[in-house]
Amino acid sequence: RCVAASASSSPATAAVATEVPGVMKAWVYDAYGDASVLKLDEAAAVPAVAEDQVLVKVVAAALNPVDAKRRAGKFQATDSPLPTVPGYDVAGVVVKVGSQVKKLKEGDEVYGMISEKPLEGPKQSGSLAEYTAVEEKLLALKPKGLDFAQAASLPLAVQTANEGLERAGLSSGKSVLVLGGAGGVGSLAIQIAKHVYGASKVAATASTKKIELLKSLGADVAIDYTKDNFEELPDKYDVVLDAVGQGDKAVKVVTEGGSVVVLTGAVSPPGFRFVVTSNGAVLEKLNPYLESGKVKPLIDPEGPFAFSQVVEAFSYLETGRATGKVVISPI
Ligand code: NDP
Repeated sequence: RCVAASASSSPATAAVATEVPGVMKAWVYDAYGDASVLKLDEAAAVPAVAEDQVLVKVVAAALNPVDAKRRAGKFQATDSPLPTVPGYDVAGVVVKVGSQVKKLKEGDEVYGMISEKPLEGPKQSGSLAEYTAVEEKLLALKPKGLDFAQAASLPLAVQTANEGLERAGLSSGKSVLVLGGAGGVGSLAIQIAKHVYGASKVAATASTKKIELLKSLGADVAIDYTKDNFEELPDKYDVVLDAVGQGDKAVKVVTEGGSVVVLTGAVSPPGFRFVVTSNGAVLEKLNPYLESGKVKPLIDPEGPFAFSQVVEAFSYLETGRATGKVVISPI
């Protein structure tokens, strides 16, 4: 099987067409609402593969707050049409390649965030399904040494942490405060600030029982927000990354000329907000750090959740108390 796939003269898409079924299991919603709108469809259409895309047999997926906000209808003005198969984060195996695909081939183990702009026309057929179609440029090879669940936990959060710190101008020797250090983005932002950008001092906030975790991730200063208001402490930071929605307080602790980047909620200058862009090249840049273990994925210990437990997984994510990432595996 797949014998013809490597023969460059034959259309790569034809070689494995018989292996990929026409229908698949997928979580779908056809109306906006709370987690109860999610239904398991046993016969959803396997997405078509455009010429610049590959079809990924999904092995693991992860949830992000944007999945819940999108499902609640918060982005309906720019959303794709219903019904929606949610899920941005994927790790899996390439089973089919489009005619313009240059590097990836069948059998490659990949990971990535499946929609380039998560709020602007995101894909209708996401990663909470047995198959998902993704542009080659949004994917990277799965880091060696990580399993599929670990790889799936990374793409949206790690690219957000990286892009946020980059946009904020973090560089070697600067200090940074991460608000929400125990969450999906924050847990990676602490590690990336330290090991990729060479920050001299990394501080982060969380509640009492997550303070030791912040330190284990590399935070030099762990602020327990149930005991201290970070904006009332004497320290100032060159960069503040706000993953909580505290932009008004964040601007009070930045040094003169420093940057405040917020992921959610309002902020006034010098703070600014951005929305992550998916880019496989960024994952490739981060792969050495993930392969060396300098940057480690953090999967919430409640999970990974089984594919049958996607509703429970969403409900858990939506408590806002997740530690690291809520992962669905195996699929
Ligand atoms: P998570 O669901 O992973 O965040 C949960 C964590 O937040 C918990 O560990 C919790 O810790 C912590 N938390 C909650 N309240 C506070 C607080 N007051 N102070 C410190 N920590 C707190 O979310 P993500 O990290 O995935 O995303 C964070 C936000 O960023 C979301 O609103 C998301 O939509 C947004 N986002 C935006 C992106 C963009 O491109 N603009 C991209 C990615 C995310 P504890 O239990 O200790 O309170």
